[in-house]
Amino acid sequence: MIVAMQEKATEEQIDAVIDAMTEAGVEVHRTTGESQTILAGVGPTASIDLSKFEILPGVMRVHRISSPYKLAGRGWRPEGTVIQFRNGVKLGGERIHAMAGPCSVESREQMLETAQRVKAAGGAFLRGGAYKPRSSPYSFQGMGIPGLELMREAADAHGLLVVTEVMEIAQIEPMLSYVDVFQVGARNMQNFNLLRELGQIRKPVLLKRGIAATIEELLLSSEYILSGGNYEVILCERGIRTYETATRNTMDISAIPMVKKLSHLPIVADPSHGTGRRDMVAPMARAAVAAGADAILVEVHPNADKAASDAAQTLYLDQFDQLMKELRLIATAVGRTM
Ligand code: PEP
Ligand code: MN
Repeated sequence: MIVAMQEKATEEQIDAVIDAMTEAGVEVHRTTGESQTILAGVGPTASIDLSKFEILPGVMRVHRISSPYKLAGRGWRPEGTVIQFRNGVKLGGERIHAMAGPCSVESREQMLETAQRVKAAGGAFLRGGAYKPRSSPYSFQGMGIPGLELMREAADAHGLLVVTEVMEIAQIEPMLSYVDVFQVGARNMQNFNLLRELGQIRKPVLLKRGIAATIEELLLSSEYILSGGNYEVILCERGIRTYETATRNTMDISAIPMVKKLSHLPIVADPSHGTGRRDMVAPMARAAVAAGADAILVEVHPNADKAASDAAQTLYLDQFDQLMKELRLIATAVGRTM
């Protein structure tokens, strides 16, 4: 950490700041120039709330140098994390993957047809919610375990991996046998108890960025899972809430290269929730692949307009097929495969 003192800071004020830093376990290196003193601190700054130094008399500014997340930071695994699944699929490597399926699991026919088409188009993961975090308690809440059974059956029939949302700790255990990737939804990104518990299992977790979360907050949330010893965390940009109302959310494409720079974890882009509009999904998916996403997550449905949830942003299966063809071209252009 760096503490820049004000030009008129007195020796007493400087000493008081040095004492406060030392007391917090930080080793202080002082530099005094012609008009200003800079205090460089080395130590456990990740666990210290630096704002308490900012309010000390004579302090002008406090900067954090090292990142507050240790295990999620790029420095911990500079080569990047590649998650290997039991069927050989690798996420985070040179190959870009697609995770596709309906917002909600609704029926056996829906899941079987979707799985067949996702596989045929080149997808590796079947997504779908059996537990749905709906904004209204009166909206369809998901099928629960029977939905997971349908999803597993459809995925197995076509050699796909299952990605599905877990909403609370009590669901983890009963879900384990159906799931390949536990999704934590945007609304639960800061459900720290749930994240800690997911740190105890040994299955990948796809952590979605919260609706109003910064990239730093996303990475700090991932730290809750990583620090439990579960190193298989996949991050997901799914749009954030801004003042813009033309789209459901603002798809933050810049978060993709930023996360890549800051972290070693794979990053997935979800242009479905990122835009909320079927006509915007393909352009944002193309942009995400160009920007370096390791996978795209999109909502698709055989009868998209009739989907029980998120119909307006759901692609028809033919549209998904077309999108995959386009993404493959872009992947090649950025030196990857899909
Ligand atoms: C979903 O994937 O269907 C979902 C609810 O996503 P989010 O948590 O990003 O809103
Ligand atoms: Mn959805």
